[in-house]
Formats: sequence, structure tokens, C-alpha cells
Amino acid sequence: MTTVIGLTGGIGSGKSTVAGILSEKGAKVIDADAVCAELHKTTEVKQAIRDKWGRAVFGPDGELDRAKLADIVFADSQGLEQLNHVMHPKVISKIEQEVAECGACGGPALCVIDAPLLQESGLERLCDVTAFVECDKATRTRRLTESRGWAPDQVDRREAHQQPLDRKRQTADFVITNTGDLATLREHVEQIAAHLKQTGD
Ligand code: ATP
Repeated sequence: MTTVIGLTGGIGSGKSTVAGILSEKGAKVIDADAVCAELHKTTEVKQAIRDKWGRAVFGPDGELDRAKLADIVFADSQGLEQLNHVMHPKVISKIEQEVAECGACGGPALCVIDAPLLQESGLERLCDVTAFVECDKATRTRRLTESRGWAPDQVDRREAHQQPLDRKRQTADFVITNTGDLATLREHVEQIAAHLKQTGD
């Protein structure tokens, strides 16, 4: 039987890194951001975005400039709401489909949903367990500045539109602390994977 684990946590807390470790252990990973990126390439979504934000958020190749759109909507909560209105039902439906495929006969022991808005979107209901990836804001900001070149205020701007982290932490079944090095994180995640495998058998 497939156990579905939902990963949540602050921006840049290490959800994708945890998902990557679980993937190496054989888990199927459903990455909400990758699902979004695929949807952004569809004619229907591109049209809806063009109608609202115009050609300026598209590159010369006709593809959506996701960074440009993010800059706009994270500074305008009404715009973000409108974008979510277009995207959320589609993302949720695609993830539901992928989870169902995972649970089909012969699926992997573990299926991971890596979705920053796991609770807000209601995707939590698809999960058998949830894990909160915990990392303090200073460390997250430093890692994101180094790896993505983000300005320090980007984390705040994006998190302002999410449920408070305390609440997400409280409702999670596991807390995965990610303030140390990658080897420590790997050890912790492997322990959780082994535990879930045992309880799922
Ligand atoms: P987002 O909220 O944007 O989806 P995320 O929670 O998935 O981000 P990651 O992309 O996994 O976070 O990690 C953010 C950055 O921090 C990445 O560059 C990653 O390589 C780095 N990182 C994660 N964990 C560690 C760690 N324990 N030690 C050093 N760097 C780390």
C-alpha cells in the first residue's frame, strides 16, 4: 500500500531537498511547483494570464516569465488571488490524478506531495501523514540568497500570503529539523522513511 506524505514548511526550508532524499529511497515525488510550471505552458492558462497581465509577463519565445509574474502578484494580494483562482483547481486536480495513479496496484511504498500551500489548498486531505520542514528564517534567507540570488525581503513577501508557520507546524505529524548540514538532514529523513515503511507494510 502506498503511504502519501505531504511536505510543508516555510519558503526555502528544504521541502524539495527532503523530497529529493525520499525520491532516492524510491518514493514518487509530486512537486506542486513543477505541476504549475507545466500548466503555465498550456494555451488555456497562458491565455488567462495574458488577459489579466498582458504580454509584458511573457518572454520573446511566447512562454510565461514566471519570475516576472511572481514579482507582480506577490506585491498585489488581489492579483495573487486571481492567479490562484485560475491555477489552484487545475493544480489540485492534476495532483489528485497523480496520487490516484500512485495508489494503483504496484505503486511505490511512499508518495510525496511537495506543496508549499498543502494546508491552504486542501491537498492535505490526500495525505496519510504530513511533515513540517523546520528551519529558522535567517538560515532560509541565507540559503536562498546564495542559491537563487533572492533579495532578503522575498521570503517575507511570499510568506505573507501563507498560513502562519506555527499553525502548520502544530498540525503536522512530523517535524523535520533542517538547520544543520545535509548529512544530518539525510539521516533524519531516512529514519522517517523507514518508520513510514514499517507502519505502511
Ligand atoms: P520553496 O519553498 O521555494 O519550494 P524548499 O522548501 O523546497 O523551497 P529547497 O529548495 O529544498 O527548499 O532548499 C532551499 C535551498 O537551501 C536550496 O538551495 C537547498 O540546496 C538548500 N538547502 C536545503 N537544505 C540544506 C541544508 N541542510 N544545508 C545546506 N543547504 C540546504
